[in-house]
Amino acid sequence: METNFDAATLTVRLGAIAGNYRTLKNLASGAALAGVVKADGYGLGAAQVAPALAGVGCDTFFVARLAEGVALRPLVPKARIFVLDGASQDAAAALIAHNLTPVLNDLSQIAAWSAAAKSARLDCAIHVDTGMNRLGLPQPELAMLAAEWKSRLAGLNLVLLMSHLACSDEPGNAMNGEQLSRFRAALAMLPPTPASLAASGGILLGKEYLFDLARPGVSLYGANPQPGGKNPVSPVAVLKARVLQTRRIDKGESVGYGATFRAKRPSLIATLALGYADGILRALSGKGLAFAAGKSVPMVGRVSMDLIGLDVTDAGPVKAGDEVELLGDHILLDDVALAAGTNAYEILTSLGRRITRHYTDHAA
Ligand SMILES: *Cc1c(COP(=O)(O)O)cnc(C)c1O
Repeated sequence: METNFDAATLTVRLGAIAGNYRTLKNLASGAALAGVVKADGYGLGAAQVAPALAGVGCDTFFVARLAEGVALRPLVPKARIFVLDGASQDAAAALIAHNLTPVLNDLSQIAAWSAAAKSARLDCAIHVDTGMNRLGLPQPELAMLAAEWKSRLAGLNLVLLMSHLACSDEPGNAMNGEQLSRFRAALAMLPPTPASLAASGGILLGKEYLFDLARPGVSLYGANPQPGGKNPVSPVAVLKARVLQTRRIDKGESVGYGATFRAKRPSLIATLALGYADGILRALSGKGLAFAAGKSVPMVGRVSMDLIGLDVTDAGPVKAGDEVELLGDHILLDDVALAAGTNAYEILTSLGRRITRHYTDHAA
């Protein structure tokens, strides 16, 4: 069946991603800027996002999984692609075949990658842990590497030494300075190597955090690197949904499952064709906002799988078929995250497959 009626649309502004890349590059004190496009470009489509970034000079990308790197390779044929998961013995052949550079996270990955370097030298990055305790060489392994780096890195070109900050979204957090000192100490233990510490938040922490390469992800997609401060980047994801029906309800009537909302006055309720199956988190029940007929209006009642109720009593005229914004220039990504009790990353990566996606080169 042909249909030109899109119940919900996500417009991804590739022009805004390009603009955000330029903005962040200007903030990065001369450091090179990679693009982090893991999790399908934070849910917005790595296949579209990565070429748009390459178009404004981004020549280095980070993905999490090997499969993400394999899928990305033909889209940015000339770029360096780092795979954050690293190199297990099993992954080595595919990494080599697709010209992917693993970020090695422990001595066993370093050994596996060194063993894979037979006839040709292989590039690699090394991730040292500086306090996140998630990925990267722990301190004792770093000491072992430093003591025996020539043999342990046999056959390898170390092209990047990196670490990751746990609290870079909080400029006042003492952990930032501690991780910076640990990272500097790690750098001093190894032969001179290009270095990278900052992701989105780190770019705003100051020049000393920038080293040779910054690795922004979420800020390319419009989220404020340090929520609370002024956002230097522009909105990228614009989510709109259609009103399916409107109804007048009397004072005392309820809306939705569990009857969690009761009207305190006669109200006009609009029901939207969007729900938690589309990534509008159920945690937004009674907390989220939408922009309808020129006004911000509250979600009322629980978010259902496919539907959301809005109280449009105070908005201009709203009728079935109208489009309402749930994310964009009026309903800001960081505000949605705050209302849902989560972060912008989870909001973006939750956006569902049922939503029709459009890509535009425009920035606004
Ligand atoms: C996800 C990730 C990034 C990007 O972080 P943002 O906060 O999205 O800018 C950078 N480096 C590593 C190691 C990551 O896991």
